[in-house]
Amino acid sequence: MWKSLLYLPLFYKNQYRSPDSFRQFQEKRLRHIVAHAYRNVPLYHRKFREQGLSPSDVTTLHDLVKIPITTKKEIKSGFPHDSVARGYSEKTCITETTSGTSGNMLTVLYDRRGYEILRSVAFRAFLAQGLRPWHKYCIMCRDLREFNKATGSVLYRTRGLLEGRPESELVKELRGIQPEVIGAHPSLFVTMAKIMEKNAVTDITPRMLFIGGEMSYPVHREYIERIFGCSTFNKYGAYEANSLAWECKYHTMHMDADSVIMEFVRDGEPVSPGERGEVLITNLWNEAMPFLRYRLDDVGIPSDESCPCGRTLPVLEEIEGKLDDFIILSSGELIPSTRIIPYLFDAPHIDQFKVLQDSPDHIELRIVPQEGFTDDMERELVACIQTALDMRITVTVRKVHHVDLTGQGKYKRVQRTFEIDSFM
Ligand SMILES: [Zn+2]
Repeated sequence: MWKSLLYLPLFYKNQYRSPDSFRQFQEKRLRHIVAHAYRNVPLYHRKFREQGLSPSDVTTLHDLVKIPITTKKEIKSGFPHDSVARGYSEKTCITETTSGTSGNMLTVLYDRRGYEILRSVAFRAFLAQGLRPWHKYCIMCRDLREFNKATGSVLYRTRGLLEGRPESELVKELRGIQPEVIGAHPSLFVTMAKIMEKNAVTDITPRMLFIGGEMSYPVHREYIERIFGCSTFNKYGAYEANSLAWECKYHTMHMDADSVIMEFVRDGEPVSPGERGEVLITNLWNEAMPFLRYRLDDVGIPSDESCPCGRTLPVLEEIEGKLDDFIILSSGELIPSTRIIPYLFDAPHIDQFKVLQDSPDHIELRIVPQEGFTDDMERELVACIQTALDMRITVTVRKVHHVDLTGQGKYKRVQRTFEIDSFM
């Protein structure tokens, strides 16, 4: 654990390197990991050979596009013999299992050095956001034993609180602990904030909240910040790579591009800044299980803006969520769910909701109404959502007693029940 600190000065300095020097740093590591993957991971060796590609063809960031995209299915079906590097095994590595519905989980092996480096990269973000080792930091987690194994309490005064219990218990515990920092999924913060508001709880006074793990909607953030009385900082990560991007004090999302290269592509081509693309990641440090141009199934928008904080780490305009979270029209066009979710969140007398798209022409709003939800309110809600979707889709409402949560405490606000191959 302490070894993470060894790498911190280097990665701390990287934040402020000149763009040229930063690119050289990335490219040196890229050449190393590509050559290593080609030599030691059968999956990549085969994929390179099929394309007539050799590691010497990939020397700069521009050459990345030559490497074929890797899917979760390939990594998973080849685990461990095809996708783990020779010389590494579960015995010698740190293992993490990705979230996902059962049957869709993926085990990721990290070599020890790679893992310590990714930790130091995560630590860099915490420092930038103002977390200090002496702050009491409570993190909501689904498995305390896993949490303690992964996080420990050496570098920060962390404490895991088990989620999945009544949120009123969590609120009670937080009142007792008085943490300076709290980390949780945004939907859990919303539920806790509602309890705090209802019961006039004002004695939980953190300095900041870390949100991540699922889509965060501006309307949620504003609400959470008002009730908890502090700022929220968004984090974007993946089990396949640890930290990917995080908000600095100016709430700019900086990418950890010296640790993981993120690409944004559409139909195989890189998109321009400000355009939406599918996220591909290349992990520069994990030699036990390299991920080269790995499809995360997330959609995001890169940016070419700089940040007043002075960091030269590249900027991410937005992560719009999982490909699954979008409404897809029959033309293939994607509509981010952020366009309609605020209406549902703001609608009076609705306890909980979920959006189900069962065809390209129809969505169903599944809502748990409170007493006082009238037919007029329902009509108004449908009209608002239809307008937000440019009247290109039929919207109906179904009242239910509860909406299903997916695994690991994440609300799946939008669910599509038909398959799509690609998006526009
Ligand atoms: Zn910044």
